[in-house]
Amino acid sequence: MTLVDFHTHVMPPWVMQDRASLARTDACFEMLYADPKARLTTADDLINSMDETGIAMSVALNIGWSTHEMCMRTNDYLLESASRWPGRIVPFCMLHLMSPDLALHELERCAAGGARGVGELRPDVQSYSLTDASLWKPLVDVLNRHEMILLTHVSEPVGHQYPGKGTITPEQPYAFAKEFPEATLVCAHWGGGLPFYALMPEVGKTLANVYFDTAATHYLYEREVFDTVARLVGADHILFGSDYPLIPQKRALDIAREAIALPDNLRAVLGDNAIRVLATQGDTTP
Ligand SMILES: [Zn+2]
Repeated sequence: MTLVDFHTHVMPPWVMQDRASLARTDACFEMLYADPKARLTTADDLINSMDETGIAMSVALNIGWSTHEMCMRTNDYLLESASRWPGRIVPFCMLHLMSPDLALHELERCAAGGARGVGELRPDVQSYSLTDASLWKPLVDVLNRHEMILLTHVSEPVGHQYPGKGTITPEQPYAFAKEFPEATLVCAHWGGGLPFYALMPEVGKTLANVYFDTAATHYLYEREVFDTVARLVGADHILFGSDYPLIPQKRALDIAREAIALPDNLRAVLGDNAIRVLATQGDTTP
């Protein structure tokens, strides 16, 4: 079975050195990493973790930086890491959507550099909305042309608060999916519960090209969430993601393996779906 982790975060070493000043100047970085206990890891750390757990490939996501410059500099690191470990690290870049022309240019640059998607979007912290169709139209055209994926943070409109929860609730990715049915959208953290509305027939239909990752599951849901969401949207729409380094990859894998009852579903969620969605054959030998 090929194991793919669809939701990890890595940072360049210089970000770790500048941690204190970035936490003062960047809203998203502050929200996620102001607490010195919040772990920051490099691509080397991720590869070590993958080797220890037998994970063949990881999607390395960026975060929702508040300047175009920080997006570019960290995108460079992700693209470089992917070329250092081809087929093992799949880079997703970040765009500064409040500068739409620069964002479009950066998207083309990252696509040419090997990025397979954009994410993890933080529209709430970066001050735009997934429902802004005119903002997204030109970007979605480029994403679709390069068969790239959009991955956004989504959180629950109800339930407990936690650092980084934010305010991107299911209506935002739903509106996006309705407006851009051709775009491939991945909603992190089980889409904030969006799959539960798939019981409404028109919602289920709209979610045809929407996938849900399992990042940080055990902070949020009972383990029944794996089989419940598989029944609602199909196991073929679930992508295993750990949220490494917040959650160790091994811990997340153990939980998924214990929770998913059917071997076929396990194989799909832990790797086959990701390989299909990324449309990459890559070098998948660990
Ligand atoms: Zn997230």
